[in-house]
Amino acid sequence: MQKTDSIIIGNGNIKVAVALEVIRKLRDIQKTHSFRIESGGIIVGYYENSLGELLISDLTFPQADDVCRRYRFVRKTTGHQEIMDALWEKSGRKKSYLGEWHTHNQGIPIPSPLDKLNWKKIAKREQNFDVLYFVIVGTDRIGFWAIHDNMLKQIDKI
Ligand SMILES: [Zn+2]
Repeated sequence: MQKTDSIIIGNGNIKVAVALEVIRKLRDIQKTHSFRIESGGIIVGYYENSLGELLISDLTFPQADDVCRRYRFVRKTTGHQEIMDALWEKSGRKKSYLGEWHTHNQGIPIPSPLDKLNWKKIAKREQNFDVLYFVIVGTDRIGFWAIHDNMLKQIDKI
C-alpha cells in the first residue's frame, strides 16, 4: 500500500491518525450536505506501522437500505459490508471496521443518549481492534470519540 498523508487527531494516549483524504471527504459532507436529514456510514482503517497509530483510511456513504431521517440515521449492513469486504481484500487483509460516522444538524456536534447507547453496543461486539472510533459531522465542527474498554471518550473537535 502506498504511504497515506494523514494528521493526528487528539493527544496523549487518546488519539488517532486520519488520512487527509478522509478529512477532505468529511469537510465535503459539511459543505454539501443539507443537514435536513442525517447521513452516515462506517469508518475503516488499519494499524499504520510508520505512524505507530491506527489510521482512519476510508469511509462508506449512505446505502439504499439505510434510514436517513431528520434526527436519525440507521445504518443497515447491506452495501457497507460489501464495501468493507472489498477494502479488506484490496488492502491485503489489512483494512478493517473501525467505527461509525453520521451527521448532526448542530454547529458543535454532541452525541445523543441514543448515539452513546448504540456506540457502546457496537463496541461490545467482536472487533478486530480494541478501540473503536465514532465521528459526528456537525455544521461547523467535526467531533471524534473513541470507545476503549467500554469507556467513551471525546478525542477532539476539528
Ligand atoms: Zn446522532
